[in-house]
Amino acid sequence: MDEFGIIATYFAPLAGEGAFGLKDDAALLPARPGQDLIITTDTVTEGVDFFAFDPSADIARKALRVNLSDLAAKGAVPAHYLLNLSLPHTITPDWLAGFADGLAQDQREFGISLLGGDTGATDGPLSIAVTAFGFVPQGRMIRRNGAKVGDAVYVTGTIGDSGGGLAIFKREKHSLNDADRDTLIARYRVPQPPVAFAEQLRAIAHASVDISDGLIADLGHIASASGVHIAVIGERVPLSAPLRTLWGDEVLLRAVTAGDDYQIAFTAPPGLRGPFSEIGVVEQGSVATLLVRGKEFLIKKPGYRHF
Ligand code: ADP
Ligand code: MG
Repeated sequence: MDEFGIIATYFAPLAGEGAFGLKDDAALLPARPGQDLIITTDTVTEGVDFFAFDPSADIARKALRVNLSDLAAKGAVPAHYLLNLSLPHTITPDWLAGFADGLAQDQREFGISLLGGDTGATDGPLSIAVTAFGFVPQGRMIRRNGAKVGDAVYVTGTIGDSGGGLAIFKREKHSLNDADRDTLIARYRVPQPPVAFAEQLRAIAHASVDISDGLIADLGHIASASGVHIAVIGERVPLSAPLRTLWGDEVLLRAVTAGDDYQIAFTAPPGLRGPFSEIGVVEQGSVATLLVRGKEFLIKKPGYRHF
């Protein structure tokens, strides 16, 4: 099947309004008066962000969700996406059908549709670039630069589970039962960004970031953009039971520097309650640090870096 067959068979059924059935050169997105269009893009690559043996539906969902976490962190409600594929010549119709199924599943779950993309072949690894579009009321995108001294630091979900799943794939020795092992692997394969939380976040957050490289590394982005110091209180970082079992005494340090969580870290007034944990404080100064039993813990490598 050539690329036109691939597009017509697998992707045209996913096309939304304004995509003209993927039969035109470009899509049309009507302007929404009173709203800002929020745009983000992320690429996932075989061997870096997923394994070639992962189910293709999961790969599709990860490619989408790593973008949806950026929109959610900005307080945006997702609406559409573009899909650019570099497909190895070895890709099969079964693989593509599973991939399209994964996209369809998440389109339903998150209320988004496909607007277009590009399809090419490569002798290199499979690579999937998604560009996602969402909306916020005009002027209400949550930036990284709004943290204020006296804010508290919060995080959604649990931290490090995806890193635990990756460690298991890398054959780290462990004594987890099958259910716990599968939970962590599922977190690595299909992140769970808190998409539905975006509107509530917009009402409370002063600054926000999605956690892709590691909790401390990404909070460091808020710290430098806002010109503040962020202290994370180690004992408060939410860690799942399977991850505690996997990593034992090392769990905190490994979790706060593991990547691929796609949860949201934000600052807001202290004492708030909701689907999140209060884990730290915003003070005068710079950088993000981890406190363990009240003492600053020196972190050599705060998060994942490609280079
Ligand atoms: P052109 O070469 O003129 O850019 P293409 O053949 O690349 O046209 O694309 C034709 C149509 O198919 C366009 O609407 C494009 O957005 C869409 N398309 C191509 N690849 C994909 C894809 N992977 N996912 C979604 N839409 C796609
Ligand atoms: Mg093209």
